[in-house]
Amino acid sequence: MIKILKYLLIVCMTSISIFAQGVKRIALTFDDGPKAKITEEIIEVLNENDAKATFFILGTNGKRYPKILEKIHESGHQIANHSYNHPNLKKLPMSDVKKELESTNKIISDVTNEKIVYFRPPYGALGKTQKEELRKSLGMESVMWNICPKDWEKASDTNYIAKFLVENAKNNGIVLLHDYGKTAQALKIAIPQLKAQGFEFVTVAELNKK
Ligand SMILES: [Zn+2]
Repeated sequence: MIKILKYLLIVCMTSISIFAQGVKRIALTFDDGPKAKITEEIIEVLNENDAKATFFILGTNGKRYPKILEKIHESGHQIANHSYNHPNLKKLPMSDVKKELESTNKIISDVTNEKIVYFRPPYGALGKTQKEELRKSLGMESVMWNICPKDWEKASDTNYIAKFLVENAKNNGIVLLHDYGKTAQALKIAIPQLKAQGFEFVTVAELNKK
């Protein structure tokens, strides 16, 4: 009898751990795009793996590549704001900060027909007062990150990025990435491994719904 109970307990604990693994969610985010070819390569990797992600685009690049924005949107990914020209927002007067965000919102909503809520300040630089002012006046929320393989550094090659992602992924994590070829290749390796660990890849908006 005790043996049976022990067995049932083990079965039960295993099911709980599988269930717990099933609810791990993570948001991949890509800054500074869209870029010709590379952004499309990233979309392809995501779509092949049934993964959703968020693209924090620059207005200047979005204006140049509206077709790529359409492709991001049609694939069910989220497009968010990373400013127009990539300035340090902390160094700008509020009127210029708003212009940076509003002009980029316009480029995105021309494609999505949705109100743009999320933005990521370039370099993660944003004053506390600025943050509150933007929430009040534009209804916009800044989004930082808590997982970063520093894919902009030369030393961070495809294998390094893939290994970093697999080892550092966590529930409710937000990963900072960029539209680079090596990052797209790293995702090809990392996403299937993380899915096997029970991770679901969601947009920032979905992650915030909880
Ligand atoms: Zn950036």
